Amino acid sequence: METHGMKENSFFLWGAATSSHQVEGHNDKNDWWSFEQAGRVGTSSGAACNQYELYRDDINLISSLGHNAHRFSLEWSRLEPREGEWDEAAFRHYADMLSDLRQKGIEPVVTLHHFSNPQWFSDRGGWAASGNHRFFSRYARKAVQAFGSQVRFWNTINEPVVYLYHGFCTGLWPPGHKSFSEAAVVFRHLLYAHVDAYHEIHKHYESVLKTPVWVSIAKHMSVFTPCNPMRLRDRWLTFLRDWFFNHLYLQALTTGFLFFPGLFCEFLSAKSTLDFIGLNYYTRHFVTGGGAGPTPLGADCDEKHHEGQSPEVNAMGWEVYPQGFYQVLMSLRKYRLPVIVCENGICANEDEQRQRFIRNHLGAFANAARDGLEVWGFFYWSLLDNFEWADGFKPRFGLVEVDYQSQKRTPRDSAHVLAEICRKWTQSNHRYHS
Ligand code: BGC
Repeated sequence: METHGMKENSFFLWGAATSSHQVEGHNDKNDWWSFEQAGRVGTSSGAACNQYELYRDDINLISSLGHNAHRFSLEWSRLEPREGEWDEAAFRHYADMLSDLRQKGIEPVVTLHHFSNPQWFSDRGGWAASGNHRFFSRYARKAVQAFGSQVRFWNTINEPVVYLYHGFCTGLWPPGHKSFSEAAVVFRHLLYAHVDAYHEIHKHYESVLKTPVWVSIAKHMSVFTPCNPMRLRDRWLTFLRDWFFNHLYLQALTTGFLFFPGLFCEFLSAKSTLDFIGLNYYTRHFVTGGGAGPTPLGADCDEKHHEGQSPEVNAMGWEVYPQGFYQVLMSLRKYRLPVIVCENGICANEDEQRQRFIRNHLGAFANAARDGLEVWGFFYWSLLDNFEWADGFKPRFGLVEVDYQSQKRTPRDSAHVLAEICRKWTQSNHRYHS
């Protein structure tokens, strides 16, 4: 089997994921905080799960749930609260988190950018301004110098296409713009940012640490289905959406070329800048050419139900579609890279639904592995109930329930369901990393 430089006698990474702005609390130096304070979303993140203070308890919790890995993000605005000024206390905080995880035998998977930007960076034009991706490379360099000895798996950017879609097409997230042409510019800048950070990280490991490292983005993928499969326009737009949302980035970062109907661009420096594919999967969307969508790529269907649609939805109304997880996983085979599922989860009001979701999705995941996909890990989204961006605190994704008044954590039964399946999986099947 191709091991991509990993040792054979190794293990399967499994656990849960979080992101800084969603759990830490009081991230008052970033653009999400400003957006919230300006009343652009209904709820402010406030203290969130107060994880910045309670991280030791949360790491104990992760350990008690048996996880052997944990995915979380660094908050850029804490590390660099003002342009070029680095906060030593914040560096110590994350170093402490990492050594605590390591001491407990938990492999950290670290994300550099999970939707939030320092406010100073936004004030300079954020991702829409030319050249700003260099600030991100500088931050990546600092982070890898400070934390590299504790980290072997990095995600540079979480869901670049989702970020630019909501930040620059729907306008629901900061900076709240609605401009497809600006989104196209951001698309390019995020790509450059990943490529530069990828090289920064590798340079440090090769020249200083001399240990292996694996770097990727976390790529959100959905299944797209035409509203009316008989309508040519719906089918064409479905194809385009799948291409644009699911594959364009991966294609550019693997081949160095970007093919899009009417476009053919070269990003040669982007070639082979993924060491694995980080995949985030939640649901599927039905696509039509009829409505006025926020992008020229077609809108979601207005009608509630479509032939073949599963009647089950999560608490935010997203279709629960485990077969789609299998489809998306198998669509990654062509990239010939190992896959780590960086996010898969459900917001549910009843934990039985979450348990069923986990069983069915891990079943689909196991089928993809059986059918030849090289899988290195699975992270449930999320460890804790947390701040769900523009949707506030109502959706509950956590394996662990959070009482936001008292900050009390209570593991749900689904946490044990996940543990039981993953433990069996590591014992029987897949042993990848040492
Ligand atoms: C994001 C998370 C978010 C989750 C559920 C993912 O797209 O990375 O930050 O909470 O979806 O909406």
